[in-house]
Amino acid sequence: MSEIKTIDELDARGRRVLVRVDFNVPVKDGAVADDTRIRAALPTIEKLVGDGARVILASHLGRPAGEGFEEAFTLRPAALRLAELLGRPVAFAADTVGPDAQAKAAALGDGDVLLLENLRFDKREKKNDPAFCEQLAALAEAYVNDAFGTAHRAHASTAGVAALLPAYAGYLMQREVSTLTGMLEAPRRPFAAILGGSKVSDKIKVIDALMDTCDTLVIGGGMCFTFLLAQGKAVGASLKEEDWVERAGAMIAKAEERGVRLLLPVDVVCADRFAEDAETLTVSADAIPDAMMGLDIGPETAKLYAEAVAEAKTVFWNGPMGVFEMEPFAAGTRAVAEAVAANADADTIIGGGDSVAAVNKFGLAEKMTFISTGGGASMELVQGEELPGVEALR
Ligand code: ADP
Ligand code: MG
Repeated sequence: MSEIKTIDELDARGRRVLVRVDFNVPVKDGAVADDTRIRAALPTIEKLVGDGARVILASHLGRPAGEGFEEAFTLRPAALRLAELLGRPVAFAADTVGPDAQAKAAALGDGDVLLLENLRFDKREKKNDPAFCEQLAALAEAYVNDAFGTAHRAHASTAGVAALLPAYAGYLMQREVSTLTGMLEAPRRPFAAILGGSKVSDKIKVIDALMDTCDTLVIGGGMCFTFLLAQGKAVGASLKEEDWVERAGAMIAKAEERGVRLLLPVDVVCADRFAEDAETLTVSADAIPDAMMGLDIGPETAKLYAEAVAEAKTVFWNGPMGVFEMEPFAAGTRAVAEAVAANADADTIIGGGDSVAAVNKFGLAEKMTFISTGGGASMELVQGEELPGVEALR
């Protein structure tokens, strides 16, 4: 983070500052249905407003065609919600770089806030088109990126424009990058990483990267069955990726080589079908019946994993332990979430859309040190990839 300038180093008074935020919020009946992402940007917006900047916010919302305005993807509801949260008016431009945006940006007074219309109404945004970057840059005198959730995309508003204006990280961007890189580079030990979710193929790079730095690696979720297969166990009708058994075996070998304690389920909650009202049976991990599928870690496993979490000083968790959306298969995820929440001495970091949803569902979000707002972006960062939106700020 050291090479990246943050908004604390920006002399913003009286200057027009273009701020890339992530207001990609769900909208229902013309209103914002979940304002988590807008709230996440408030510290940066409030700081700039307090400094007397002329704040110009830009975001994408959803996946419009890129051929102009589409009612379903307008950011107008986000402007209304932001105004309520800030307790001050928020101007809204009906276009992104066109005459309305230009006029409203020019008319801003110190401490005023303007939100531009959806960046992705213009297909040049995703193409990182140079002319579009120029037009965005022409609206302002400085650029701030606070949209960590899109930092893994090299778009005009996340990458191209940063080269044309003095560029700074907002507080959310700064906190995401410093928390995740700090965890990878200098974790307090022991460092326990818990990985779950559905597929090994989605997470193999994350497992591989964490294996280089963690002390304990805990595996649950659908992906544990590919690991159990690699150990020569039968997994019945459980989720499995035959093509990934060899890679899973290589990860088991890597854990041995590096002295990482690798924990796999010792018992499994099985079901006769993928349904809330399925017949269930809890069995030892080497006795999964042919016709049944494992949909959660069992109680012995949950206890073992909770102990590993309790001993840790740093915990990173990505991916539910079971099909937590269905109550009969939520216990494993709940037990691990509670263990993470209960470890008040540790730095606890949660990443990934479904894991964050699980933590929220169990009402434990407040107990975690840090909940990443970037699903794909946080995974790419953890697996050691450079994020274009972060690189552009260097
Ligand atoms: P995240 O979004 O936190 O990164 P993933 O998207 O990788 O997590 O995985 C989440 C999904 O994995 C959940 O919808 C959950 O139901 C599913 N899952 C967890 N355990 C199993 C299992 N044993 N069998 C099938 N699906 C599972
Ligand atoms: Mg997911």
